Amino acid sequence: MESGNHYAIARRRMVTEQLRARGISDERVLKAFLAVPRHRFVDAAVGGRAYDDCSFPIGYDQTISQPYTIAFMVASLDVNPLNRVLEIGTGSGYQTAILSLLARDVFSIERLAPLLKKAEGVLGGIRTGSIRVKVADGALGWASYAPFDRIIVSAAMPERPLKLLEQLADGGRLIAPISESAECIILFARQGEIVTERRLARCSFVPLLKGEG
Ligand code: SAH
Repeated sequence: MESGNHYAIARRRMVTEQLRARGISDERVLKAFLAVPRHRFVDAAVGGRAYDDCSFPIGYDQTISQPYTIAFMVASLDVNPLNRVLEIGTGSGYQTAILSLLARDVFSIERLAPLLKKAEGVLGGIRTGSIRVKVADGALGWASYAPFDRIIVSAAMPERPLKLLEQLADGGRLIAPISESAECIILFARQGEIVTERRLARCSFVPLLKGEG
């Protein structure tokens, strides 16, 4: 058996060696990664390796993303404590928990009901901020709670997320892996009717599932 203390040490190492050392410097983001027990979001058999520098399968051909990938995207999104954040692809719920410690409210959409059920169970057992979830096709966004200050997509979208950009508030930011040509993490920023986009990094994500599943 590995003790809670063992996990806390692994978590601190993850933050120092995988995040801070690679340029993640936002102290609020680093603090959130220190607080969220990543080992709860992976298969029990993974145990202490949950803090390793990699992704893990979570079932249904999906994965919990590598810590650095999540930190890079969340830091680039620049989430502040007043923000309402929409997340597409709850998956394990790990990134949802991180976001909830940084934002005012998190709205998270997952396409696969069994994954969401599991994530809800884990999230219910730890300290998080305000989180609301639903099973749906995230590409359509969540119109009844729009607009959102920040939107983050955790699965590769085939093209620019037009529907989601419609639900982005003025001054808002959206980050998504887009597989249009080569797969790239793209940061969209909205000022009035103008949307600018910036390619941040090459990447590799599981593909977004189509609406019908
Ligand atoms: N950040 C999550 C990543 C999970 S992988 C984590 O670290 O655990 C991407 C997730 O997006 C998967 O759970 C997948 O089921 C979900 N997904 C794929 N297509 C989707 C869609 N159209 N709408 C909502 N979620 C989707």
